[in-house]
Amino acid sequence: MTIPLLDLGAQYRSCKKEIDAAIQGVLDSSQFIGGPALARFEEDFARACGTSRCLGVGSGTDALALILEALGVGPGDEVITVPNTFAGTTEPIRMVGASVRFIDVNPGTLLMDSEGLDAAIGAQTKAILPVHLYGQMADMDSILGVAGRRGIPVVEDAAQAHLASRGGRRAGSIGVAGAFSFYPGKNLGAYGDGGAVVTSDEDLADRVAMLSDHGRTEKYIHQIQGRNSRLDSLQAAILGAKLPFLEDWNRRRRRLADLYRSALSDRKGQVELVEEDEGSPVYHQFVIRVRDRDRVRESLASRGVMTGIHYPIPLHLQPAYRYLGHKEGDFPVSEQAAREVLSLPMDPEMTDASAARVLQALDEALRASVS
Ligand SMILES: *Cc1c(COP(=O)(O)O)cnc(C)c1O
Repeated sequence: MTIPLLDLGAQYRSCKKEIDAAIQGVLDSSQFIGGPALARFEEDFARACGTSRCLGVGSGTDALALILEALGVGPGDEVITVPNTFAGTTEPIRMVGASVRFIDVNPGTLLMDSEGLDAAIGAQTKAILPVHLYGQMADMDSILGVAGRRGIPVVEDAAQAHLASRGGRRAGSIGVAGAFSFYPGKNLGAYGDGGAVVTSDEDLADRVAMLSDHGRTEKYIHQIQGRNSRLDSLQAAILGAKLPFLEDWNRRRRRLADLYRSALSDRKGQVELVEEDEGSPVYHQFVIRVRDRDRVRESLASRGVMTGIHYPIPLHLQPAYRYLGHKEGDFPVSEQAAREVLSLPMDPEMTDASAARVLQALDEALRASVS
């Protein structure tokens, strides 16, 4: 029996009744774009995040692009972010015509912090884009401290951090706006693509809504040139049916993380944990660092334990970003992390017994890799 990284089928079976009813409701209403399912989900998700507004959009990538565009970021401007993330963080910067400027991550958390941020800010810097990777939140206080002094808006990539919090504030509610992805494997996942913008800036919310709906203010008035990026009603209904379960799912992820952490704490030197310990993370991934990563991973796979690597190549070394002219050594912390990170199975449907099996297999894999 293999233990997968994540089992979406098991999650569906656990809330099949609610999901099936939500889908049937949309089919019966035949309202496939907009309508009550979307309005209700937007209201519920805004409340859950602690913002006054939530706008459903087509994807997490679109959510970031729409925020940047609504902030007026465009050609000639620069957005600062980190190379230790998914390409969906940086694509939106290019989508609005601005350029990407990387700074390296904190060696302990692998997240953006204020180190090197001030020095990276220039006349063209129009936004700062920290990523709450793995469901752990970047040090927003220190980032906002620097950004505030320079008058630059901070946009949160919260695509992996649904309902994570730090200092009593939820992901997406701290900067000027936050972007979420509802890609199926995220902590709150749709059955297709989807995303959301959350913000308490009413003007910004109105601009995002207009941009994502063909620039319209009324049905046949196109105020500005927008585009089509919507969260459709079926996806909104599915997400609305899942949202009441999310706190429990995140609690379950924390419990599994506790089991992993306590077993691995006496493995110092062999296994390092990647943890931000000030907030309340939601463990989109549980990430460890091991020196002999690829061998340990293979050895785990041979023992039926599936793992992931988030991410094997930092963005500045990806072919798509060759145009930035970076080379190996430019962001050493991200590069070292890419060689060492390993994501263990993390799934709210996983049992404690499965977690114990993962730990047992990891123990054997580590021993095999030493000998
Ligand atoms: C998933 C993800 C995105 C992009 O979301 P999509 O919905 O796939 O477009 C952006 N940033 C991060 C960190 C992500 O994990």
